Amino acid sequence: MPAPKVTIPVKGKTKKEIFSEMETFRENDVPWQDGRAFSLVFYPGEEVNPTAFPSLRKMETEVVSMAAGLMKGDDQVVGNMTSGGTESILLAVKTAREYFTTKHPDIQEPEMVLPVTAHPAFEKAAYYFNVKPIHIPVQEDKRADPVKMQEAITDNTILMVGSAPAYPHGVIDPLSELGKIARDNDLLLHVDACVGGFMLPFVEKAGYELPPFGFDVPGVTSISMDAHKYGYSAKGASVILYRHPGIRRSQFFVYTDWPGGIYASPTISGTKPGGSIAATWAVLNYLGEKGYTRIAKQVMRTTKRFQKGINAIDGVYVIGDPDMSIMGLTSDQYDIFAIGDEMSKKGWHMDRQQFPDSLHLTISRPHKKMVNKFLADLQEAVAKAKKLNWTNLSSRLTVKMVQGFSRVLPEKIFSKLMNNAQKLGGANISGRSAALYGITGSIPNRGGIKEMVVKMMDEMMRVEDKKK
Ligand SMILES: *Cc1c(COP(=O)(O)O)cnc(C)c1O
Repeated sequence: MPAPKVTIPVKGKTKKEIFSEMETFRENDVPWQDGRAFSLVFYPGEEVNPTAFPSLRKMETEVVSMAAGLMKGDDQVVGNMTSGGTESILLAVKTAREYFTTKHPDIQEPEMVLPVTAHPAFEKAAYYFNVKPIHIPVQEDKRADPVKMQEAITDNTILMVGSAPAYPHGVIDPLSELGKIARDNDLLLHVDACVGGFMLPFVEKAGYELPPFGFDVPGVTSISMDAHKYGYSAKGASVILYRHPGIRRSQFFVYTDWPGGIYASPTISGTKPGGSIAATWAVLNYLGEKGYTRIAKQVMRTTKRFQKGINAIDGVYVIGDPDMSIMGLTSDQYDIFAIGDEMSKKGWHMDRQQFPDSLHLTISRPHKKMVNKFLADLQEAVAKAKKLNWTNLSSRLTVKMVQGFSRVLPEKIFSKLMNNAQKLGGANISGRSAALYGITGSIPNRGGIKEMVVKMMDEMMRVEDKKK
């Protein structure tokens, strides 16, 4: 099969070249500034539409083509740009449901089989589109378990999911095995390469050996990859790819009976911003294969230093053997969240994870100069955690609840709570108990964790009260 039509340039282009190329793309766009266009553009503003703006359509299709090339796809691979990984995954699940239930109208309650490490966006998709998620535990090394996933397949299964890599521990699932199972059972297989899609190809080019992750794996039918992560584009940029146009058809939405005209929309959003499309096109052309590979090399070297350094500290270790630059850090001897609290006090921000309790690291370029400082602080934090003693806490139950609660909180929210609690409780209390007092003090009824989180989100997504 021929390669995709446009591939990422080997050598990056200059800014001047990129801007002048973008200028030529614009020549066929609707002249929206001069008052002759009566739709699409609400000037002043950046709202854009690719049917009036061939420049954007061109850039989007070129980004998709470059992405397909990175994922070792051929010229049959098609796709779209979306607002982010979540939208790409929502579409993959919705497309699978439609593609499959059109072929098999007897399936009333479609199911998807996914490892527990798959991103919650699949949960959201299941919830939005009425697909039943079947969660399968992962193996010791945190990679998906093909045997257990195969066993979970029923007559209602439409889709299998693997990650490249999964976010919590940075490991790539055994996609060749999953692909074979998908093919044997005539199922679709989505690979979530949201965090890895714009990194793994260059990690490989930099000389690291990786398990397969792209369309070169038989059985893989769709892939999501986020340009706004290791693609270094502006936020709001992801790509959803399908092995052939026959699958993508099920993604499109068309409504023909509207008085406003025949309405067609390829993705979930209607009007979509052009800024992130242009930014992605520009950064891919600017860095080129060489630029991305150079950065990937640096990031991977830094990652290996973190990994080795953490594993050299007695009492903590990196979970499994990450394939890329994200990892989970845990401890069998000490409370890893207490270590996390100590690290927060020293100004480090790491998200908290569960099953097992752990801290999460996403490594990128600026971390290079921080490795030694981080490891020294971690060593101290571990030493401090050894001494911590929780017997002075009045209620074991409250501790349990807050432990559960703190787990699900991103670092930013957690530290915000801690700050509030510190104000309430004075300066002497340690990080964890500070959070504990703060949280339990502000929640009168002790419902489930989910309810607490929902309530907190509601409060956070409002204009703050004026300080009295
Ligand atoms: C970030 C991420 C997502 C979700 O992407 P958003 O851009 O946050 O919507 C999905 N899967 C993985 C593995 C991710 O890292």
